[in-house]
Amino acid sequence: MSFESLNLHEALSAALKDAGYTEATEVQQRAIPPGLEGRDLMVSSSTGSGKTASFVLPALTRILASRNDPERKREKGQTAGPRVLVLAPTRELAMQVAKAASTYGRHVRGLRVATVVGGVPYGAQLKALRGPLDILIATPGRLMDHMQSGQAVLSNVEMLVLDEADRMLDMGFIEDIQFIAQATPAQRQTVMFSATFAGHVGGLARTLLRDPMRVEVSSHTDTHSDIEQRLHWADDLQHKNALLDHILTERAVDQALVFTSTQRDADWLADRLADMGHAVASLHGGMPQGRRNRVLQGLRMRELRVLVATDVAARGIDVPTISHVINYGLPMKAEDYVHRIGRTGRAGRSGLAITLAERRDAQMVQRIQRFTTQRIPPAVIEGLEPKRAEPAAVPRPAGPKPFGRRPDAGRPFRPGGGAPFGADRKPGGRPAGGPGRPAFGDRDRAAGPKAFGSRPPRG
Ligand code: ADP
Ligand code: MG
Repeated sequence: MSFESLNLHEALSAALKDAGYTEATEVQQRAIPPGLEGRDLMVSSSTGSGKTASFVLPALTRILASRNDPERKREKGQTAGPRVLVLAPTRELAMQVAKAASTYGRHVRGLRVATVVGGVPYGAQLKALRGPLDILIATPGRLMDHMQSGQAVLSNVEMLVLDEADRMLDMGFIEDIQFIAQATPAQRQTVMFSATFAGHVGGLARTLLRDPMRVEVSSHTDTHSDIEQRLHWADDLQHKNALLDHILTERAVDQALVFTSTQRDADWLADRLADMGHAVASLHGGMPQGRRNRVLQGLRMRELRVLVATDVAARGIDVPTISHVINYGLPMKAEDYVHRIGRTGRAGRSGLAITLAERRDAQMVQRIQRFTTQRIPPAVIEGLEPKRAEPAAVPRPAGPKPFGRRPDAGRPFRPGGGAPFGADRKPGGRPAGGPGRPAFGDRDRAAGPKAFGSRPPRG
């Protein structure tokens, strides 16, 4: 995606062009539009993925807009303090952000950027702090010093950015951050970046952010070493349900997040599980926000043991007690598989990600494996072994190919090619064409890895 579709101010587009950027990175694509709308954000994305521009561009947009604001013009010359405040853990990181702000803001006339970091004489910083300022980039410790001596005015901050929040907390800055945030107006926009939102960072996010949108970009080759993955092949929907029922009755299940492909499936499956006596609810984008919040609250309070959700609705779920993620319906995009399984194995706990796949899902399973560059180890449950063997590597349907093979097929899969499966398929509904290739062998997987639990054979 190019930056053009973000409709940035021409001064910013020009700077990006100067910098030689052609495409927005994924985190930029996903964080800039809500950032421009003024929404609070919790963002996690790997190092080097371009997070700085994803908050600096919305920040500069605010500054450009305020240049035309007559209210603000009147204030000119007053000591108004910064409009945008960025907190960063170290001096080096603060300097990098400052440099990025000057780069992306080079065509913003009269842009005033200042840094307040340790290891620099106070005098120069004071001078910068006393004048009107667009962006202040600071380390929490040194900014606290200035606040305590009454030199920092934060009452006009419109946007607060916490860059590398997890590192700032590791460095013991939690109280400083809270103190600083309290000195800024409550109606500010707050954007928080962190490698994780578990533990204290999550707690801080809850106190500082209002209805935040979560943007999470996982690197698709993340090993997810705390998450064990398993793949169960199901002969049909009935078999898949039997597998799910068995897994959900396991004692090891603390809380389970079950994914379906569609909203309808989520409601249908939650009803079915409720009928069986599970403490269960569904969560999807078709539900009003209030109800979604109550469901999430129920999950956190452990009133619910099972949550049946769609991909979109599950994006922001951060509940460390989720021990199992179960893919009942496969995701539409391989990338979503990574988001899904990342909902378990949180806060240093181990998690289990179980995929229940029917034969028609074989291609998606392959796409996921290619995307993550990992094989999902097949497993069977004693008494619930599939009658038919695991599908051969790449079953290619005879008809028109559901996924065109791309020119870059040798490289890791890039998502975005559209939904491979019907966006509204009913449980048990069969796509035209039926299963791909015939099975090889029959019932040859009894000795497969990880038989757990026991059950009388079906049928
Ligand atoms: P992060 O904060 O996620 O670790 P940075 O914002 O520091 O990453 O960006 C990493 C590098 O990528 C920087 O050198 C930056 O100039 C460059 N960069 C950022 N966005 C783009 C883009 N859209 N196209 C090309 N290079 C980019
Ligand atoms: Mg960064």
